[in-house]
Amino acid sequence: MKNSQNLLKNSPLKVTPQRLEILQTIQKNGHISIDDLYAHIKEKFPSISLATVYKNIHTLKDEGILLEIHPQDAKSHFEIKKEPHGHFICKKCGKIYDFEIKTSCNPNLSEISEIDESEVYLYGVCKECQ
Ligand SMILES: [Zn+2]
Ligand SMILES: [Zn+2]
Repeated sequence: MKNSQNLLKNSPLKVTPQRLEILQTIQKNGHISIDDLYAHIKEKFPSISLATVYKNIHTLKDEGILLEIHPQDAKSHFEIKKEPHGHFICKKCGKIYDFEIKTSCNPNLSEISEIDESEVYLYGVCKECQ
């Protein structure tokens, strides 16, 4: 897993304690909504406003460090950008799971040479909720 500090250092963005905390929180949670993220950040930076968190998130997204995902019937979530992958969303607990999209071993996807982006969502019930 990439280090939050390196993610920022490799970008033109300034490394601020708030940005580091945002990235670390997202890394720890995998996928997180702005509201949940704000609740975490506020514990460490009580004076931070939602608008500031929002602005930082979008700056990080514009830099290609974060990715926004939009599951159906759920709030937008953010994650640290990595290889294109699919998301499984549990309809009971709302947890989001990543899954790999392997084109090489799927004969139906044999025409694909490279995936740049993926908006693949699967919905159902996770093992924990069954
Ligand atoms: Zn579940
Ligand atoms: Zn993901």
